[in-house]
Amino acid sequence: MAGVRTAWTTVEDGDFFCPGCGGDRNYERRVGRRRLTVLGLPVATRGEVEAVVVCSSCDRHHGPEVLDQPTTTRLASMLRDAVHTVALAVLAAGGARSRTARLAAVGSMRAAGFTACDEEQLLTLLVALSADQATTGADLTDEPELRQALEPLSAHLAPAGREALLLQGARIALADGPYEEEELAALSTLGRALRIPVADVDQLLAAAPERS
Ligand SMILES: [Zn+2]
Repeated sequence: MAGVRTAWTTVEDGDFFCPGCGGDRNYERRVGRRRLTVLGLPVATRGEVEAVVVCSSCDRHHGPEVLDQPTTTRLASMLRDAVHTVALAVLAAGGARSRTARLAAVGSMRAAGFTACDEEQLLTLLVALSADQATTGADLTDEPELRQALEPLSAHLAPAGREALLLQGARIALADGPYEEEELAALSTLGRALRIPVADVDQLLAAAPERS
């Protein structure tokens, strides 16, 4: 006759990556309130239960922490932006002076999904950014800037993915010959911003293949 029921209320919905069925899905975040019922009628509150995130595809319930994971779509766009950040940092560190390096950067950007990227666009961007630098003092190769740009992604990427990003930068720097001092400094900063251990950064940079 008496029992405890949980009444769920949906408080939010959106897209998330469902670890249950492994893909970008819709979710509903529900909060629950336990109620003592007698003859099917709620008579007293018995406290709140922890909020759940319910996948609309597989109906599995997850803890709210699943929402900290970016969706696959979001991750892909963060990756694309990271390639952009890496390429610009290397170009700003001196690579932009060489046409081969600029073309290598264009290649990286196109492969990352910026299909309309060309040399002129990159140069325009760099000019605009250096004008901005002159007024704000911000620098494309500043560690805090790079950290801010790359850390949200770094937190979700496996070491191999973070190393691949650094190697893209290394290839741009190496396109016109050995690393210049500034390029090397920018790449080390990128490595730190990507949370790659310093020893690994040195090793990766030393082993990066020069483009023929
Ligand atoms: Zn699911």
